[in-house]
Amino acid sequence: MPKIGLLAIQGDFHEHILALDRLGVESREIRKPQQLDEVDGLIIPGGESTTIVQLIDIFGFREVLVEKVKNGMPVWGTCAGMIVIADKLKDHRPEPLHLMNIKVSRNAFGRQTDSFETDLDIKGIEGPPFHAIFIRAPVVTELREGVEVLAAVEDGRPVAVRQDNMLATAFHPELTDDTRVHELFVRMVERST
Ligand code: GLN
Repeated sequence: MPKIGLLAIQGDFHEHILALDRLGVESREIRKPQQLDEVDGLIIPGGESTTIVQLIDIFGFREVLVEKVKNGMPVWGTCAGMIVIADKLKDHRPEPLHLMNIKVSRNAFGRQTDSFETDLDIKGIEGPPFHAIFIRAPVVTELREGVEVLAAVEDGRPVAVRQDNMLATAFHPELTDDTRVHELFVRMVERST
């Protein structure tokens, strides 16, 4: 059974832990870079990407995290986490980890639809559409080789993408009772161990 870490320096990591609990999957809060050695995969939660990146650098996570993911450790970024693992941002801040071949625009849905909910068909997930909660969400504006779009909103903009051992969702599966995206990530982690 894999052990999944939650980058627990800012944001809604606790809700992910509850979702993994519901699946019976062991998780651990990660607050120091050395703790990454104790887990098989990492979730970077939603929150405020500028703060998360600031703390990643202050606590010395950047180099070890990038190296681990490049060596195959699965990572899943939700919302702010998607911004953190992107290669490029449309925005000036923060300086992302340059891991995934995507360009991301922060707060991409504008004021009117700042936060909204919609049903999505997600590739790799069986059953009815997934009820997705977007909160000041980012969107993928460009993607390069190796990136697969798993889900897009009605206008076609990608909101769930995967590249090898990396998964990114612009919405918040941890805020629903539906654990199917967590199961997808757990399968990615299982396959990598
Ligand atoms: N808008 C936030 C940011 O740019 C992300 C919001 C979220 O994670 N729900 O970091």
